[in-house]
Amino acid sequence: MNYYQLSSKSPNPETPDKTWFAEAKQTILCKECASARVTGQPIDVVLQTMPDRSALNVVHGVCVQIATVSLLKALFPEGPENCLLLGKVFGPDRKEAVDFVTIMKLERILIRGNERSEFRVCPDCHRIWYSTIGKRYLLKRDVGNISVFESQFGGLVVAEPVAQRVIGGKWRNLVIQKLELRDEPVDGLDIPV
Ligand SMILES: [Zn+2]
Repeated sequence: MNYYQLSSKSPNPETPDKTWFAEAKQTILCKECASARVTGQPIDVVLQTMPDRSALNVVHGVCVQIATVSLLKALFPEGPENCLLLGKVFGPDRKEAVDFVTIMKLERILIRGNERSEFRVCPDCHRIWYSTIGKRYLLKRDVGNISVFESQFGGLVVAEPVAQRVIGGKWRNLVIQKLELRDEPVDGLDIPV
């Protein structure tokens, strides 16, 4: 089975609203690294501006990904809510951006790189911060028989039959890249999972 990374090439990551960010740091964000805690609960975000029209994008600094409802319906015709935890996206004055949702998935995967790649583990939320350098790949043992993952840093990782539903479509700022699968990492890192 081949796997593909779906990520954003939007030049404009979304910026969280300052008041929301300050409140969220007391609750749903990690106090140490500011990323969203992965709890199995969907996460709502408030942005400084309404989202740009990218099919997929990230909220800067908090590791929250947002997607258009139309992209998710194309990827998951059986209902995106059956596959992902979906939260609400609000803009200025807490007006809901109804065409967008936040996405979260408990099944997460690291896209690995070469021996120059590095990682660290957040001492509070235990998120693994990994910088992927060089050719990107997944480890077969990480993939198992799961067909949809949230990438730790950058979009979704999906099995080929899912990716096929959006390949060739016109999705603003969406990048779809096939990932190699390997038995062993070439980064030489022993990363706790
Ligand atoms: Zn953290």
